[in-house]
Amino acid sequence: RGLRLRHASLPTLPQRRLLNQFISKGAALCPNEPAAPSLAPPAPVRFTLAIKDNIATGPASSQSPQPTTCASPFLANYHSPFEATIVAQLRARGARIVGKTNLDEFGMGSHSTNSAFGAVAQDTLASELDPLSAGGSSGGSAVAVAAGEADVALGTDTGGSVRLPAAYCGVVGFKPSYGMLSRFGVVPYANSLDTVGLLAKGVGRIRELVGGDGKETGLWAEHDSRDPTSLSDAARRRCAKGREGYGTAAPRRRSTEPGGLLKGLKFGLPLEYNIEELEPRIRDAWAKAATTLQDDFGARIVPVSLPSTRHALAAYYVIAPAEASSNLAKYDGIRYGVRDTESASDAAGGVLYAASRGKGFGDEVKRRILLGSYTLSSEAMDNYFIKAQRVRRLVRRDFNRVFALDNPLHEPETFDLTELDESIAMEDKWGPEEVDFLLCPTAPTLAPRLEDVMSQTPVDAYMNDVFTVPASLAGLPAISIPMPVAPETTGGAGAEGPATAGLQLIGQYWDDARLLAVAETVA
Ligand code: GLN
Repeated sequence: RGLRLRHASLPTLPQRRLLNQFISKGAALCPNEPAAPSLAPPAPVRFTLAIKDNIATGPASSQSPQPTTCASPFLANYHSPFEATIVAQLRARGARIVGKTNLDEFGMGSHSTNSAFGAVAQDTLASELDPLSAGGSSGGSAVAVAAGEADVALGTDTGGSVRLPAAYCGVVGFKPSYGMLSRFGVVPYANSLDTVGLLAKGVGRIRELVGGDGKETGLWAEHDSRDPTSLSDAARRRCAKGREGYGTAAPRRRSTEPGGLLKGLKFGLPLEYNIEELEPRIRDAWAKAATTLQDDFGARIVPVSLPSTRHALAAYYVIAPAEASSNLAKYDGIRYGVRDTESASDAAGGVLYAASRGKGFGDEVKRRILLGSYTLSSEAMDNYFIKAQRVRRLVRRDFNRVFALDNPLHEPETFDLTELDESIAMEDKWGPEEVDFLLCPTAPTLAPRLEDVMSQTPVDAYMNDVFTVPASLAGLPAISIPMPVAPETTGGAGAEGPATAGLQLIGQYWDDARLLAVAETVA
């Protein structure tokens, strides 16, 4: 009886989905507004698209009624004067926007609970009364795809925000090489790490959009001069050398068939990802995936070591808040953001700034601003920010050493022989076998219950990113694909809890086309 009462007081399932995963619905919900005249004929609708609400959808109009709020009270009803390049690119490829999706405020979080609109809930039928975390910060986008409300969803991935929700919700989440997809119109969180990512039910849809078949039709070939971190055409051509030809490679060829894509490819299992906290069912599924690659697809599996991994998470949580504290300085209630009118009458400008920011930001965002301001302060800079940058370099070097392909953006690193005994001088490529891809879980646990997440400390939430931040620090392409895990048996009472985790594949810089081709075969 108690259950029924509780259920009755909640909105129905479809309503709850609408409430917690979409912030605003697309033009389809405003049928009475006259259509604005458009010069070019609209592209035929080929797929529906949900957009994380930190990506600008342009000024309010009948075609684009959605604000861009970043799930922050500060940007309530904010309409960007322009549309993000990635949105225009996808519309040109036949996307119809179905809505803007909920997220952690400014992308800061791992469970999509830090939102002015309330937490995103992953309420599958099995967990309707006890919803699971959708992951974050692109949780709304992942749920929109999982629930079939959008074919494709845009997310942003700074330290795992596309891959983690994909893993928790059982969909595919792709983070491209840094600098590949334009960030123009994407509200920055930490510029040196931010990427735009794509979520879909299958890899095929993402591959189609990203391309990489050498014919230069995909998103991977499109430089955007309005984004200073978008790779130039010349750099794209240089990076593509030795990586062409995978954009249209057919998936699902087993080793017994001629031309099997994975035959002879080498996958590395990073030893440092086998942490104590790893859920045993995920560890088993990871081992099983590796065995399948070897036995069914003719791939080779080798252990590799990425020794700096254990410092990566700490470095990330210094660098990302530092950049965030700088980026978010512009929300002052004057140029951007909701002004605190009570304090506006106060003569001192500083009061207006502090009062607006005090009201406008949520707790997690404030925590990051304080943390970032501290680690960038003169007394702490050397101990935190500079050290974290060093760790970042080591993380990058770890990856460059284990991949068979060179990183086209980095000069091979050699140690200065004058400083080192020649016998221990190291070339860039040393150590264990060189691999084509790394294979590891996306997160150490399955999707936790939302209720448990709510009582976690911030640091507990940061822990979820342990397997996703290394690729972010190095700017590498990575994808999370659904990986079935054995159901939990509770004293023989049957199956319980989510039955999918995320399997993560990480590739060398600009090896995105091959990564996607391989992921489609493995998925
Ligand atoms: N959870 C990480 C953070 O809070 C990653 C967020 C992201 O990738 N946007 O910073």
